Amino acid sequence: MAKVGPVRQLPAVHELVKKAAAGRERPYPAGLLTAAVRQVLAAWRRAILEQGETPPDLDGLAREVRQWVEARLRPNLRPVINATGVVLHTNLGRAPLSVEACAAIERVARSYCNLEFNLEEGKRGSRYDHVERLLTTLTGAEAALVVNNNAAAVLLVLDSLARGREVVVSRGELVEIGGSFRIPEVLARSGAILKEVGTTNKTHLWDYERAIGSETAMLLKVHPSNYRIMGFTCQVADDELVGLAARHKVIVVEDLGSGALVDLSRYGVGPEPTVQASLAAGVDIVTFSGDKLLGGPQAGLILGRAGLLRTLKENQLLRALRVDKFTLAALEATLQAYVQEEAEQTLPVLQMLTVTPDRLQQQAVDLQKQLAGCLGAECAIAVRKGGSRVGGGALPLEELPTTLVELRPARLSAASLAERLRRGDPPVLVHIQEDCVLLDPRTLQVGEAELLVEAVAAALSDGGER
Ligand SMILES: *Cc1c(COP(=O)(O)O)cnc(C)c1O
Repeated sequence: MAKVGPVRQLPAVHELVKKAAAGRERPYPAGLLTAAVRQVLAAWRRAILEQGETPPDLDGLAREVRQWVEARLRPNLRPVINATGVVLHTNLGRAPLSVEACAAIERVARSYCNLEFNLEEGKRGSRYDHVERLLTTLTGAEAALVVNNNAAAVLLVLDSLARGREVVVSRGELVEIGGSFRIPEVLARSGAILKEVGTTNKTHLWDYERAIGSETAMLLKVHPSNYRIMGFTCQVADDELVGLAARHKVIVVEDLGSGALVDLSRYGVGPEPTVQASLAAGVDIVTFSGDKLLGGPQAGLILGRAGLLRTLKENQLLRALRVDKFTLAALEATLQAYVQEEAEQTLPVLQMLTVTPDRLQQQAVDLQKQLAGCLGAECAIAVRKGGSRVGGGALPLEELPTTLVELRPARLSAASLAERLRRGDPPVLVHIQEDCVLLDPRTLQVGEAELLVEAVAAALSDGGER
């Protein structure tokens, strides 16, 4: 058995442990180190026997062990620099929080808090009270409730108010968001019965009217967040739907998706329907996400009639969908920015969406200068006009004017530069176009430009051929 030779040459466990631990100021946790050694040796044993590979020497094996251990000692979930210009990047955690929201999380995390304790009356309170008054003040809704995310909000509304009964939805609004939230499936999960009406491009009021029967619980409107139907189209406006529902004594629920509290069209973003407008039109319940255009933590906000919300609050399912104290703390601080009428100044998402093209151009030129100062001939650097995206399934067709910094490395492809940036520390995410790496200053946070310049310099100095 010729293959057995190299297996015999593998070091003993204690020998490799000793080698991997050598020269460390702060010793590795002993159990973790032994586990790493066993893993590495077992993997090499298999590779030798099954693929006939040759193992590295003791130093090489020790390096593998240290990598295995260190990968488990550093946080896996960590900050990344988003240079893509996609403001609400779902894969990158959607909305970065305001300074105030982060401080609020830290305050309640470090100590006990009155999460479910009414300090005035000295008795048990409700976790939902902390943000309800803010939400009703801001929107004019009678009552409010917060759950884990908007998917949970829609599920809770359907389960509470339409289980076993019919829910009328336009065929143009049977959306799928992010691969896992699909209106027909959420409806099925809740035990409600989907009654599709109209066609993909056109749904009229009389489509809804014909569908309403004795089994109808609600008319559900869903905001087509991440797509648009163009050309000859027709969807029914909220107020018409509300009038129809009132005549037939059913309710209207609207899943707004993004849920903007301020009209961003004066900054050239949108128009996107606001929460206030839907409620003013008489919609009985609206739901939306906390971490899209609102700019807060992941949450599902439910606003509407007090009587209906009471039914939701009594549903046992709420217990499984409830938010924790960190979410409530961050949400309260986020909503306070709106009450103080300074949301556009203090919430990162709104800052990024409303920053002027002039300011972005200035930032791009500054970034270009900083990069030019330390990259030399390794990379051609230019600035050019481009477009950023709102992301997060909001305003899918909208391009916000921006200025991009374009990098064309001399000895690397754009794809390999992007890969090095992604695997660097901190990781940097970019877009690629026509063999150029593009950096959009819109989604850079304060202090990140310097880190970005260092990251690009490090990625280019790694060596490597095109
Ligand atoms: C984003 C979105 C959802 C899902 O919201 P999450 O907060 O991600 O659960 C549901 N409906 C619509 C219309 C959306 O845009």
